[in-house]
Amino acid sequence: MVKSRLSFKFAGCLVSSLILNLLFIINIYVGGQWNLSWSSRAAAEAEAVAATSCSGHGRAYLDGLVVDGNTEPVCECNACYTGPDCSQYIPHCMANADGGDPLFLEPFWLQHAASSALVVAGWHRMSYSFDGSTYISKELERLIRKVHALVGNAVTENRFIIFGTGSTQVLSAAAYALSLENSSSPAGVVASVPYYALYKEQAEYFSSEKFKFQGDANAWKNKSDTSTNMIEVVTSPNNPDGRLNKVILQGPNVKTIYDRAYYWPHFTPITAPADEDLMVFTLSKLSGHAGSRFGWAVVKDENVYNRMTIHMQLSSMGVSRDSQLRAFKLLKAALEGEGRELFDFAYQTMKTRWERLTRTLSLSKRFSVQKINPQYCTFYNKFREFSPDQEAIGN
Ligand code: PMP
Repeated sequence: MVKSRLSFKFAGCLVSSLILNLLFIINIYVGGQWNLSWSSRAAAEAEAVAATSCSGHGRAYLDGLVVDGNTEPVCECNACYTGPDCSQYIPHCMANADGGDPLFLEPFWLQHAASSALVVAGWHRMSYSFDGSTYISKELERLIRKVHALVGNAVTENRFIIFGTGSTQVLSAAAYALSLENSSSPAGVVASVPYYALYKEQAEYFSSEKFKFQGDANAWKNKSDTSTNMIEVVTSPNNPDGRLNKVILQGPNVKTIYDRAYYWPHFTPITAPADEDLMVFTLSKLSGHAGSRFGWAVVKDENVYNRMTIHMQLSSMGVSRDSQLRAFKLLKAALEGEGRELFDFAYQTMKTRWERLTRTLSLSKRFSVQKINPQYCTFYNKFREFSPDQEAIGN
């Protein structure tokens, strides 16, 4: 009798604990939505900063300056605007034709604030590595392959993908990886004129025994000395002139790095999926997030991939896990639905700006813009003009 009363009591406790747990779960998961706890403060903080009015000519950021005893960050104004709310136009403000920042995509991300926003908890990926073995987010790698497949601008099947802190780091890793291990003389790094200044600056600054900047690729075309090891950087589309450059040097001692930073429908017709041995891309020109410092290379040869991986390990132990998370979230948002919206927005914006620039410069007797013939674009299935804008004439 005592025993059965006890078991009855125990069963009663179990039922009430189950009911309590159920009520708790229902309480925090209402109508298919989590009732937020620790993240709500972060969300409120982010939205409060985003609501700061900067007259459409600037933005306030969570980590922005706080001045004059204010508690909220102040507006950071775009070029040519000033004042506490960026409402004052600076007359005779000069355009900088020697540099570019891919801020033209900001309106797209303002429209996609919900799908691209992140809450990063203090405990997010504190480890040096993912699962103790790699510096690369496999899910981000998967999204990168997906975006290339969607756009049709690069072959990634059976290719290795390596991440870098911007394509700037990827480019230097590629130069190290392609230079010979036991050579007595450095490989010559060349690019066809006009070229993006970083190639020369990087090679000279790192002043390695492995490679040396040797100027214009065209100057080496008909050289009789074919024994020198050469690394040609082919920028296609090119910075600064937007052209789809082709390789100049060929032969057993020539290795090529294809800088494909601008090979997106924003800037150029996509003529075919690029399938070169070593191709370099960057988030800076794809989504406009230059500040996140995220770039990648698509590599055919395993040995080259391994050498690039060693370079990344020794120079920075891989790319910041926070940047990888950001890139992951942005690409995921960009690929929502049919995944074409980002490209349509970017192409239309670049096209309109390029047409305006061309019209304005056509009035000048001192300046003109290059004419590049339209080409068939497999992404838009039509012949189209190039639309490089200031993104391909500077920085
Ligand atoms: N390659 C080219 C051709 C560029 O124009 C740029 C930046 N303007 C880069 C590489 C470097 O870009 P990031 O380091 O931001 O990826």
